Amino acid sequence: MKPDLVDITIIGGGPTGLYGLFYAGMRGVNGRVIDVLPELGGQLTALYPEKDIFDVAGFPRILAKDLARELVTQAMQFDPDVRLGERVLELGARNGVFELVTDRATLPTRTLVIAAGKGAFKPRTLKVANWNDLLGRGVETHVRNPEEYRDKRVLIVGGGDSAFDWSWGLRELASELTHMHRSDRFRAHAHTVRLVEEAHGRGELQLLTYHEVELLHGTNQVEAVTIRHSKTKERRRLEVDAVLALIGFVPNIGPIAEWGVELEGNTIRVDSRMRTNLPGVYAAGDIASYEGKLELISTGFGEAAIAVINAVHFIDPSAKVDPGHSTSSRAFKGRGGPS
Ligand code: FAD
Repeated sequence: MKPDLVDITIIGGGPTGLYGLFYAGMRGVNGRVIDVLPELGGQLTALYPEKDIFDVAGFPRILAKDLARELVTQAMQFDPDVRLGERVLELGARNGVFELVTDRATLPTRTLVIAAGKGAFKPRTLKVANWNDLLGRGVETHVRNPEEYRDKRVLIVGGGDSAFDWSWGLRELASELTHMHRSDRFRAHAHTVRLVEEAHGRGELQLLTYHEVELLHGTNQVEAVTIRHSKTKERRRLEVDAVLALIGFVPNIGPIAEWGVELEGNTIRVDSRMRTNLPGVYAAGDIASYEGKLELISTGFGEAAIAVINAVHFIDPSAKVDPGHSTSSRAFKGRGGPS
């Protein structure tokens, strides 16, 4: 069956895309979201589902997976078309509408909001010979469920937020936790670094700088690693049950770079209405850049609303840009909203 033409298609089902999808429904246009991952939530569910978030308005503290669930519930009120496990490859146009070519279908849409974050995720890997043999066998690039590390000897590798957040988060669950980084310069937030250094001082974990993994040991399951001091070249064997290589992602927005949108590194340049240089194509969230840009969930929400509001106006120039207040929106009639 030929997929329906929709008013707004959102590439990316992360927090930005989900909020945009809700906004499309509230503005009374039909929306579609496409994500290459099997689950909605973007980085919230794929990278740090069990981590607490403290800086989302209205939630003093919320687990990332719970925020994703609430965003999904909010977006699904208006029955949007959700396409998961589908990668968007090409952007074309025919008969005055855009056509998105995915690895499964060609999807027509009047407007497009690109909320693709950092692009399809590709984690960096450790440059060790048997990486592929042990990946998924105790060696992982993200934490799916912290309970998997209860009473285990865990090695965390990395100097960024993910590595430090999980070092702090797993220190009480793991029976032994070693955190190592190849230098003594960390990219993680100073506050988390201090917490981990203090935990090291109290003997709750071991923080090693100037160390690298040289070899993974084990056949069906990782059993140990050979680590090397990068200055003294001294080697030693560390017995472990799990290795978490939290060394970031290769920034790659993939095929989107070929669509003719103006890029700035791995981001898409937008104006104050989240418009790209292509009329009818908007960008929001981590993938959008403008002067003063901050990559945060809260900024993504605002950008999603602005992008969708302007996309609605693009479809129907007689539609007001200012959406008014949700309390008086007809979209909520019969849902506890105005009668
Ligand atoms: P994403 O969440 O990256 O979602 C983009 C989606 O697009 C992905 O699901 C991806 O699969 C999909 N996609 C990409 N390309 C394609 C394609 N071609 N076809 C189909 N689908 C595609 N922010 C905060 O505000 N507070 C915090 O406390 C916080 N903590 C963080 C902790 C960690 C460890 C990390 C890594 C980030 C943290 N962030 C935090 C940042 C926050 O997660 C991001 O700013 C946010 O997820 C960006 O949302 P997004 O929807 O723009 O992109």
